[in-house]
Amino acid sequence: MPTSSGKSRRKAVESIGSEDLDIPIARPERTGPELALPDWALELPRKRTACPICKGAGYLVKVAPDGSSDLVPCRCKLRELQESDYQELQRLSNLEPFADKTFETFDPDVPGVAEAYQAARAYAENPSGWLFLTGNYGCGKTHLAAAIANEAVRRHIKTLFTIVPDLLDHLRSAYAPTSPVRFDQRIEAVRTVYLLILDDLGTENASPWAGEKLYQIINYRYNYRLPTVITTNRDLDEIEPRIRSRICDRHLCRHILIRAEDYRRKAR
Ligand SMILES: [Zn+2]
Repeated sequence: MPTSSGKSRRKAVESIGSEDLDIPIARPERTGPELALPDWALELPRKRTACPICKGAGYLVKVAPDGSSDLVPCRCKLRELQESDYQELQRLSNLEPFADKTFETFDPDVPGVAEAYQAARAYAENPSGWLFLTGNYGCGKTHLAAAIANEAVRRHIKTLFTIVPDLLDHLRSAYAPTSPVRFDQRIEAVRTVYLLILDDLGTENASPWAGEKLYQIINYRYNYRLPTVITTNRDLDEIEPRIRSRICDRHLCRHILIRAEDYRRKAR
């Protein structure tokens, strides 16, 4: 005599189209079309139940002519991975503390900032090539760099604003075995983002490891001519020679010296 739990068990079994089976299956009861996936694939987290291709499993089984099978990500899973890459970038981009640093809040009338202001504005509208902003501490270059980033993000351009010492800390933490993000994933995100803004180059505590990573990022962006903004309060000859030689390519990189003595004191 079937108990009610026996009934629901049978119903679960029927719903997957295996009427002959009468063994409990450790799987939530489901209805709907026939499944094309083996049990071991269905044990994956089933968050995306709406996907009509994989029924939410995120993966599909691809069977080769020799009968061997492989698990491949579904289109919905690939989209999810892209989104998480972008979320990772947003998390890394760290623009929230600089949300008020926009062109609207920058005072272009402070003596010495006009050229940099105009160049930064034009750059934000159409980022291409490199922009190298130099000037003393407090001359407004971080404000302009953040304003470029805020404007680019407003235009839906994939942008990463990062203070160089913080960037190296992030990379170091991704190197730790407990990190949820793999180091090569993180460095790839930084290298390949469309617009990269490196604030305060030259203030990092450049261990040989950090110096090498920073050089690799900058060299990659140089080789692929990816839009990049760099600010520093150092003299050019204080910058690591390999990085300096990239910055000194005047075909790619526009240099602007901000002569304002103390933008922050003079701006209102
Ligand atoms: Zn899918």
